[in-house]
Amino acid sequence: MSDDILLAIDQGTSSTRAIGFSPAGDVVAVEQQSFEQIYPGPGWVEHDAEVIWATVISTGRRVLQLLQEAKRSVAAIGITNQRETTILWDRRSGVPLYNAIVWQDRRTADRCRQLAADHGEAEISRKTGLRFDPYFSATKIAWILDRVPGAREAAKAGHIAFGTVDSFLIWRLSGGRLHLTDATNASRTALYDIGKGRWDEALCEMFDVPMSVLPEVRDSAGDFGHSDSGVLGQKLPIRGVAGDQQAALIGQACFAAGDVKSTYGTGAFLVLNTAQRLVSSKNHLLGTIAYRLNGVVTYALEGSILSAGSAVQWLRDGLGLITRASDIEALAASAPNSGGVYLVPAFTGLGAPYWDPDARAAILGLTRASSRAEIARATLDSVAYQTHDLLDAMAADGLRPETLKVDGGMSQNDLFMQRLADVLGMAIRRPAIAESTAFGAACLAGLGCGVYGSLQEIAALRRNETRFEPASSAPDREIQIAGWRDALRRVRSA
Ligand code: ADP
Repeated sequence: MSDDILLAIDQGTSSTRAIGFSPAGDVVAVEQQSFEQIYPGPGWVEHDAEVIWATVISTGRRVLQLLQEAKRSVAAIGITNQRETTILWDRRSGVPLYNAIVWQDRRTADRCRQLAADHGEAEISRKTGLRFDPYFSATKIAWILDRVPGAREAAKAGHIAFGTVDSFLIWRLSGGRLHLTDATNASRTALYDIGKGRWDEALCEMFDVPMSVLPEVRDSAGDFGHSDSGVLGQKLPIRGVAGDQQAALIGQACFAAGDVKSTYGTGAFLVLNTAQRLVSSKNHLLGTIAYRLNGVVTYALEGSILSAGSAVQWLRDGLGLITRASDIEALAASAPNSGGVYLVPAFTGLGAPYWDPDARAAILGLTRASSRAEIARATLDSVAYQTHDLLDAMAADGLRPETLKVDGGMSQNDLFMQRLADVLGMAIRRPAIAESTAFGAACLAGLGCGVYGSLQEIAALRRNETRFEPASSAPDREIQIAGWRDALRRVRSA
């Protein structure tokens, strides 16, 4: 019986997955479970932390059972998670004080506007790479402490723990013994100085978060204790942890400066490795920690697109133009191009590099010749154009990658991949391993337990990628992008 399987726990926004990977990167066993999204009010998004925990236990146990049947056993666990999502619990009982407040939640928008007006963006940007935005954990922590009766007093007495989801899972897996997180997750709280590598006292004070609630920050690959035998049925070492976008960067083997990946799911997330250089973006991108290995921090520059696959969902659910998301490919292929139609998918505002929460979506350039097919084309194109604008912002910060690695549900669409290559004028590389995020967690666990000796070994596992080369001529591209820019101008809120 070989004991080299790496068990990735991928705790995402809409579902939890447990995947057993062989050291070669093959999926040996997988189990997935979706869970309820709780919307208590406009712009509010919560998860029940106990439900998250239950999905981790049931998917984890099921995969361990499948592995046992296949006569395989686990060398180590790696955890990757929805980032910024905030949980506070009582150290004495392990019981959460409130639901998990999800990264998408906007309830602290007013507080963030106030903080930005009082303090300006310079300090937070310099220390954390982030900006005042409800997205990050800090204002969510303070919100829970202020709203749950007795929480502030209990925190003062040292009884309350804060964690992003990784931290909560480690606490629970270790039977309430370990309060840990990794540097990538810490970098998304807005409380962690990513240059100095420590929680920042002044930021904690500004956000009104007592430092006693914060977890200890460790390398992304290394010792995070063991899962208690009573929890998953086996005592297993936890050896890797990273936030989901960073895990995807690792799963895509973006280990050199200038390597960039884009994950096309509901939204899209571009992350570019900047090695030991902490780039302070002048073009509205975020600086963040890519990973920390053996005490050495690798930095990244990040930009997010709010609507990518969700625009495809809108064609399906809002307009009823397609039955399944994947139908968009055949529909789009039935027209040679978008016929001058542009869709600006600002359904929930626009993310980086525009940062315009009040913009709303529009379809422009319609003529009597426009049909469902042109709208399908325009929808896929809009994700390519938004990617173009993010790469443009990265270029303005002095970073010009040569190729783009992709993953996520939308990356399975070949027509979209080709349009992306054409719009960017850049080769697109899609790996054979579809689960980049979970695989990244497995890679970290493998590094942490010695299954892999180096990042080079992980990079060598990459095989059979599909490449999409740009075909459009430059003048064509420029005309199309000018059309997009014009459409964008018309939906901007100011
Ligand atoms: P998430 O992790 O955010 O749930 P996934 O990576 O599972 O997202 O991707 C699902 C998203 O991708 C959905 O929004 C869906 O609309 C979109 N999608 C899935 N398949 C396709 C496809 N073939 N073409 C275009 N979009 C797709």
